[in-house]
Amino acid sequence: MNGKTTFTGHRGLELREDLIFEIGTRDRSGVDLAPLRGLPDRLGGITRDQVDLPGLAEPEAVRHYVRLSQKNHAIDMGLYPLGSCTMKHNPRLNEKMARLPGFADIHPLQPVSTVQGALRLMDQLAHWLKTLTGMPEVALSPKAGAHGELCGMMAVRAAIEARGEIDRRTRVLVPESAHGTNPATAALLGFSVDEIPASEDGRVDLDAFRDKLGDDVAAIMLTNPNTCGLFERDIIAIADAVHAVGGYFYCDGANFNAIVGRVRPGDLGIDAMHINLHKTFSTPHGGGGPGAGPTVLSERLAEFAPLPHVVANADGLELVEHGPHTPDKPFGRMVAFHGQMGMFVRALAYMMSHGADGLRQVADDAVLNANYIMAELGDVMSAPFAGPCMHEALFDDTFLKDTDVETLDFAKAMIDEGYHPMTMYFPLVVHGAMLIEPTETESKASLDLFIATLRDLVAAAQAGDTERFKAAPQLAPTKRLDETRAARQPVLRYGVTEKKQARAAE
Ligand SMILES: *Cc1c(COP(=O)(O)O)cnc(C)c1O
Repeated sequence: MNGKTTFTGHRGLELREDLIFEIGTRDRSGVDLAPLRGLPDRLGGITRDQVDLPGLAEPEAVRHYVRLSQKNHAIDMGLYPLGSCTMKHNPRLNEKMARLPGFADIHPLQPVSTVQGALRLMDQLAHWLKTLTGMPEVALSPKAGAHGELCGMMAVRAAIEARGEIDRRTRVLVPESAHGTNPATAALLGFSVDEIPASEDGRVDLDAFRDKLGDDVAAIMLTNPNTCGLFERDIIAIADAVHAVGGYFYCDGANFNAIVGRVRPGDLGIDAMHINLHKTFSTPHGGGGPGAGPTVLSERLAEFAPLPHVVANADGLELVEHGPHTPDKPFGRMVAFHGQMGMFVRALAYMMSHGADGLRQVADDAVLNANYIMAELGDVMSAPFAGPCMHEALFDDTFLKDTDVETLDFAKAMIDEGYHPMTMYFPLVVHGAMLIEPTETESKASLDLFIATLRDLVAAAQAGDTERFKAAPQLAPTKRLDETRAARQPVLRYGVTEKKQARAAE
């Protein structure tokens, strides 16, 4: 039964919903403000009164967004095995803490004497991030992992500038399995990106890496565990080698969930690493919501940390907002204020409720769950690299070889089964990659059902039930979209559709 077979277009309690531009009108509003009287126009006539935003009454607006939200998958609805993204449960305790008025209702421009508690929280979060990573300095303000990469690499750049070597050190080494944000960050800062090939076993090819070293190397950007879900076992040798030629070691810390409480990146020779609070420390993410990417820095880079930072003085805690603007320390701040306060509260609540033993267990269980999936699917799905893995299990599309089913079809069929697909076609070093990250918050029962579902899909694909895959998703509110066209020809501006015109004519 598809959406058109009911009179309303609803499917039981799953309600269809038009775009807000189609249901709202300009002459309606959810607020009831008295017209302004007697106030002179101080904007010199540049006010816009026809912005054409669709107006809805409050109940209409609420229904609109609730209906849309129910078409989305969410970690609160089911398993969300998106590799590299660490879609774990967001404990409700964190939410409760983040909503305390003393944290939620403050303004970044309030006098610091009135926000001592918030500063203390930032200070404690900084303390635990430094402790967990074994690094002496942290910049809390970056607002995403990618922003943290920018922060860390700006610190690297500032350090190289201070050494007077910016004209010479122009190359950044990036393994070919890296997340796209790594080369993008290096390129944005004016470095050239030099790709290091992967070895047969999915790690950095050490010989190829050594061949690329020279005194023009600014840094290496390496992810550990890497995006194939494997620990880079040569990491200390890599750190030593890059330091020996005067370069810096940036670590992409997005996969910290696999080693938190077990490994201190500072002990591995890392100079800078971002931490995705919205991954490892369970603050909510997805849908473009606020992330937070605090960036830890080594002794060598500590003095190049951005502003602001919290310090203790005789009157309590203070936010240092202005630094020495000497030419050799050119790096100011990453954001207007101090970062994502709500995420700081959630991350600290998460750390304190888990404790040291709990955080270590996070890593242990995340790795255990991924290896369980690897072991239970290894006989029917093909794994490009021999296990064991860290916190995510990587498969390729060899097992679909003599079927008409492609990786994308396989993913779409998972939607009909009520699962968000795993990460597809990433990392690029593996053909038809499928990267499954179950996280530690899935129960064995949940994993068993997921495994049984994938086994059933593999059997169907190999038995030639192509229809189940090519037509998928058949049960989702929207079916197969032309994703390529959407990416190549995005329509970013909503025009008056025929639908709306037709309605106006009625
Ligand atoms: C998520 C991720 C990033 C980027 O983090 P954002 O918070 O999405 O900007 C970078 N590298 C890796 C390996 C990631 O998984």
